[in-house]
Amino acid sequence: MTCIFSCLRSTSLNASMANMKSLPSGALAPRTSLVGTPLRAGCTKSRRQIEQWQTRAIAAPERTYDVLDKAEESRLQETDAFAELVHLSKKQSVNKPQKGELDFRQSPTFHDCFPGSEKCYTEIEHNGSTLRVPFRRVHLTEDAGHFDLYDTSGPQGVSAREGLPKIRAEWVAKRDARGDKVQTQQFYAKQGVITEEMAFCAARERIEPEFIRSEVARGRAIIPANKRHTELEPTVVGRAFLVKVNANIGNSAVSSSIEEEVEKLQWSTIWGADTAMDLSTGANIHETREWVMRNSPVPVGTVPIYQCLEKAGGIVENITWELFRETLIEQAEQGVDYFTIHAGVLLRHIPLTANRVTGIVSRGGSIHAKLCLLDHTENFAYMHWDEILDICAEYDISLSIGDGLRPGCIADANDAAQFAELKTQGELTRRAWARDVQVMNEGPGHVPLHKIPENMEKQLDWCSEAPFYTLGPLATDIAPAYDHITSAIGAATIGALGTALLCYVTPKEHLGLPNRDDVKAGVIAYKIAAHAADLAKGHPYAQEWDNALSKARFEFRWYDQFNLSLDPVTARLFHDATLPQEPAKTAHFCSMCGPKFCSMQITQELRDYAQKHQIDEGQAAEAGMAQMSEQFKSVGAEVYLDEATVEVNA
Ligand code: SF4
Repeated sequence: MTCIFSCLRSTSLNASMANMKSLPSGALAPRTSLVGTPLRAGCTKSRRQIEQWQTRAIAAPERTYDVLDKAEESRLQETDAFAELVHLSKKQSVNKPQKGELDFRQSPTFHDCFPGSEKCYTEIEHNGSTLRVPFRRVHLTEDAGHFDLYDTSGPQGVSAREGLPKIRAEWVAKRDARGDKVQTQQFYAKQGVITEEMAFCAARERIEPEFIRSEVARGRAIIPANKRHTELEPTVVGRAFLVKVNANIGNSAVSSSIEEEVEKLQWSTIWGADTAMDLSTGANIHETREWVMRNSPVPVGTVPIYQCLEKAGGIVENITWELFRETLIEQAEQGVDYFTIHAGVLLRHIPLTANRVTGIVSRGGSIHAKLCLLDHTENFAYMHWDEILDICAEYDISLSIGDGLRPGCIADANDAAQFAELKTQGELTRRAWARDVQVMNEGPGHVPLHKIPENMEKQLDWCSEAPFYTLGPLATDIAPAYDHITSAIGAATIGALGTALLCYVTPKEHLGLPNRDDVKAGVIAYKIAAHAADLAKGHPYAQEWDNALSKARFEFRWYDQFNLSLDPVTARLFHDATLPQEPAKTAHFCSMCGPKFCSMQITQELRDYAQKHQIDEGQAAEAGMAQMSEQFKSVGAEVYLDEATVEVNA
């Protein structure tokens, strides 16, 4: 295996400029760095002013995207809730042609968001293919070298209209040419084959490919990678690896558009989302997903029952197994990498939710429960599980077995309904493995901290160590508008115990459809949770990152502290809010404690003193205290001194 570093800052920008010429008029501009854009003739703003504006625009964009138009707003205020639901269900449609040209907005790019970093690739030769594995290289100041970070931002400088390069097309074509009947990652792993996807993930994780293969073969890890999603940069999900973060995107019947959903996808992967779920329930579900798939460098998951309900005219009673099966195949053909299917919601589990405070809160879970109760029949997804596995095996779609009976509030955590479903998930997991289909299990929801360990222990035991994928959990219910924080607390806790994939929660949870800024807040909160979990698990890569930032902080390398952080622009904005001058970027203090009380500066002085006098820091501290004691005695050993004495001894 060879490994070559190649940094592509200039080539990606040149490529994007070349693309611009070939676009039709009115089409979107390719995603190029605003920093690299020439100023217009006659523009009176200096480059510095524009960069300052750009910096603020990234951290706090002025526009909000979920504002209803005035007519819609007043209609919503006039109608009652029931009438509104009826209205919305009529309004929903599938594959409604998009009105007019799509008008993709240029999002801030990698270089806008990470000004001190470079997008680089490691090149690896594997089975005759060259794999280009991305990473973020942070350039440090004062000869400190560089620091490399895992990167999920995807190819840059690519027009959303054209879609990302199909890097997996060659890998899949080789398997088709060989006539491989089964092409799932688990099948290959069980045969002892290290696929291109495994080698790619190994390079990203900086571990041996053989370890990834063995974990995938055992079912303890998955690489969600539909063979139709050739734009994918593979990622591994398992508790032996870096904890991953999922971002939910998707429109609703009330809000959003294709352009906004593609922008949310780009925005979430820029900030570090490892996977994305398109949970669209509004108009143009198929078309929205197509744009998302063709522009996603990360695995994309869906909850197919949502689109099924759309096709059934919003009427649960009209959903059939045939309609569901048709929807699975439609999404499989588009390249969806993992399906959330609530096959563990069994007829006998539903009465267990009767005395809950918030009943069944999962959309998919409630649809399946209603279908069960309508005819008093078993969940069709459970009954047709083997046929679902056939579809998943055909495309290598991973199953994310849904937690339709997850607790929707703290009072319902760890109850009989939740755990009955978890046990069924275990049975479905082992049946999937028997067909070489990759599986993860979804988990709660709302769980107080002291009840989290039981969730992890039971999942590992009952589901035979398949990867756990949890929504939060929210550690308390009392903070609507801050649920990215309440849930990140639970996510860090369960991640440290072994959860492999954390589904983010945004500040809009329980309140409304997230916009681009909410997506960023959710992803950053969950990157913190995932990294805290990695540290707790003793991941060496996680520890190195902390050490690099801590060192930069202690040495007052302010730019390095900003650039090594999850959100360099916001970190710098906060610093510059009080000390914007350039010399403050080398100052040995900030505005929090000021120059006289900067404890890190005082510690450095202590160390300098120790070095100068050839003593250790403890002796230096003692020497310093003895010196101060002598000084105290020399001015009369008085606690309060007059001003003249203070000035003389200062
Ligand atoms: S002034 Fe306080 S907060 Fe700022 S660098 Fe020094 S110790 Fe840290």
